[in-house]
Amino acid sequence: MLVNDDVHVLSAAVSGIVAVPDSPGFTEETFAFNVATVHRPDVVLGAADAQDVVAGVKWAAEHRLPVSVQSTGHGANSAVDGGLLITTRRLQELQIDPIARTARVGAGVKWRSVLEASVPHGLIGLHGSSTDVGVVGYTLGGGLPVLGRAHGFAADHVRGMEVVTADGVLRRIDADTEADLFALMCGGKGNFGIVTALEFNLFPLADFYGGGIIYPGADAVGVLAAFREWLPTLPDEASPSISLLRLPDMEFVPPPLRDQFVVHLRFAFPGNREEGDALLAPMRAVSTPMMDTAGPMDYLDVDQVHMDPVDPLPYTEGGVLLKDLGEEAVADLLKLAGEGSGCPLVMVEIRPLGGALATGRALPDAVSGRDAAFLLFLVGLDTPPVAEASIASIRAILTAMVPYSTGYTLVNFHGAPGDEADRARAWSPAVYERMRAAKASYDPGNLLRFGHAITGVPSQ
Ligand SMILES: Cc1cc2nc3c(=O)[nH]c(=O)nc-3n(C[C@H](O)[C@H](O)[C@H](O)COP(=O)(O)OP(=O)(O)OC[C@H]3O[C@@H](n4cnc5c(N)ncnc54)[C@H](O)[C@@H]3O)c2cc1C
Repeated sequence: MLVNDDVHVLSAAVSGIVAVPDSPGFTEETFAFNVATVHRPDVVLGAADAQDVVAGVKWAAEHRLPVSVQSTGHGANSAVDGGLLITTRRLQELQIDPIARTARVGAGVKWRSVLEASVPHGLIGLHGSSTDVGVVGYTLGGGLPVLGRAHGFAADHVRGMEVVTADGVLRRIDADTEADLFALMCGGKGNFGIVTALEFNLFPLADFYGGGIIYPGADAVGVLAAFREWLPTLPDEASPSISLLRLPDMEFVPPPLRDQFVVHLRFAFPGNREEGDALLAPMRAVSTPMMDTAGPMDYLDVDQVHMDPVDPLPYTEGGVLLKDLGEEAVADLLKLAGEGSGCPLVMVEIRPLGGALATGRALPDAVSGRDAAFLLFLVGLDTPPVAEASIASIRAILTAMVPYSTGYTLVNFHGAPGDEADRARAWSPAVYERMRAAKASYDPGNLLRFGHAITGVPSQ
């Protein structure tokens, strides 16, 4: 049982903010982008620097309190209940080395800030569909980028990191120093420590062709059939994806699309207008697009490719990796999510994988799912009156996809973690076993046990 004196000891040891439930600043400090998730830790520490993270972890270990970490709350799929929550959003260090083509960021930096600093040098990082997401949480979860088929997962391109492990030690790790831990951190999520800074590769980009085409939902059968035929014609550099969107009548949705069922094709390609137009031509001839925004794009507008919401929302999600996307799989999916299905989900997304995502990096890491051909990702609003229907629909679609799935998912697209067997779905069995063994040595007290945490192998 924590008493005031315990909390004062922590406050005295750090330069950041310390708050307990009902004290000033607690609600703001624990707030998550996913507003359906309301964290109730015993104490929240708004770390001002890496030393605060060290002090917080040591303090929590002394008081036998579990530790969780949050940057933006985009990945807040489950609420933190009790323990110490360390927030990292004040860790805003950001350095770009245009010669070495690398970036170094503090744990609170979002992808938008990286791009704003790197794009003027003709360089980009491997961010995902929304640049409002935190670099560190995204990358530790593998990080499936907008240009993933061209370059691979973000975790494949991490050069080094600084991490506070459960023993309260701040370590600098890379492929040469503590290589095993480094490999497991690159894709293993927050299981082995709290990262305070991350260094990773940037990529040169001359031309960028991107955007989307929106079709009436009534044409979903034809559009998805055309999408399947079109995919094998694309080079690896092209990264398309497609979504069935049931857009709510809410402010974040552009007015013509509010309260509509539509199909949204997204397209990202490092090339010029001529090349992009030629690749996209077959999909432009399908149906009658309601909107077509694809073309040469200033890379700082890259969020327009996926058009993810920018304001905090209540949501629930789930995902699975597919071996293939055959006719039968599409038909089964449309039965549950197509026109007239009554599907309550705001987004049913299919992201083709392959290309550099399948190849991986020369060094081992913990990214799984390289054998999959597609990621199916489902998002529903987690707010009355649709919350229960959203959860039921995600479950029904995941069940219907079992015959087509690899049985696994990517941790960044897993949704709320369930029991141990469910958590294990986020990694391949070989990686999961490596992680379990490492968890037992790096976090024997299971200090880091929130979210997508795994359980270590019990000691003999
Ligand atoms: C709109 C939207 C778009 C997205 N698009 C993509 C996409 O295209 N590709 C993709 O791969 N993912 C995508 N995601 C998922 C996203 O990458 C994960 O939710 C990720 O965890 C978000 O990281 P965060 O730090 O912003 O979130 P947070 O909720 O702050 O953190 C989530 C988790 O990351 C871990 N974590 C965060 N910081 C640290 C740290 N310093 N040390 C150790 N662990 C830490 C912890 O486990 C934490 O619980 C998207 C999510 C949203 C909401």
